[in-house]
Amino acid sequence: MPLLKTPAITLKSRKWGEADRIVTFYTLRFGKLRGVARGARRMKSRFGSALEPFVSCDLNLFEKPNDTLHRVSQADITETFPALREDLALMAGAARMSNLVAAITVDGDPAPKIFETLLRGFRSLNEGYDPGMTTLLFQIKLLGLTGFRPQTDHCAVCGQGMGVQGGGLGRFSAQAGGLVCDGCTRRRSERYLFLAPGSLAFLQQALRMTPEVLNRLKANGQVRSELEMAIEAYVTVVAGKRLPPVDFLAAEACEPDYALKR
Ligand SMILES: [Zn+2]
Repeated sequence: MPLLKTPAITLKSRKWGEADRIVTFYTLRFGKLRGVARGARRMKSRFGSALEPFVSCDLNLFEKPNDTLHRVSQADITETFPALREDLALMAGAARMSNLVAAITVDGDPAPKIFETLLRGFRSLNEGYDPGMTTLLFQIKLLGLTGFRPQTDHCAVCGQGMGVQGGGLGRFSAQAGGLVCDGCTRRRSERYLFLAPGSLAFLQQALRMTPEVLNRLKANGQVRSELEMAIEAYVTVVAGKRLPPVDFLAAEACEPDYALKR
């Protein structure tokens, strides 16, 4: 059985059998993968808290032939984000980030930028940046990195260049994945969310920015609420299900193992 070594972040963790855990990781070198950690729930587990959510670790695992489930042999903590376990809003933001990465990436397809963006997202939350804004920016960035980039320059249906819409409102379709032109709007019957020019400009800027400076962007009022609604609707379509909300209730809605556990 080949041994794989990689930096990793725990996305999800669930109980398995008497004392084990099945953990979904996003790893730097191999992308998303799942592993079983034998004995991880025993009092004196050799994994300690390295496999808890919102922790990054150096991971060793054995690849099993013809099996997508690997065997975790060692996990050493490299970075913890303690605030994410102490504040419900931060926990909800971090859970949304993890859930979205888990939902829209495929196993074994490495994308170091996704790993870096997730790590930076956790750091921003941990360092006290506005959790709602940090989570919104993270989602925009992640969509942009995964082939689900929201279309803002071209019609998401016919591909026609949208140009500047003369100061008018952009019609955003979650189903189509971006702005839809006048002609396509007339041919389709669906609900659109309206984006004011300022919201559109913000979305385009967020998509262009690199992860290291992303947390400098700020939005309030109409821009923020329009983008929160548009991204929420789009993420729901892309993830194929409604993800736990980015608010207080998320602590309840996410997997039990995400609950306050130290
Ligand atoms: Zn069109």
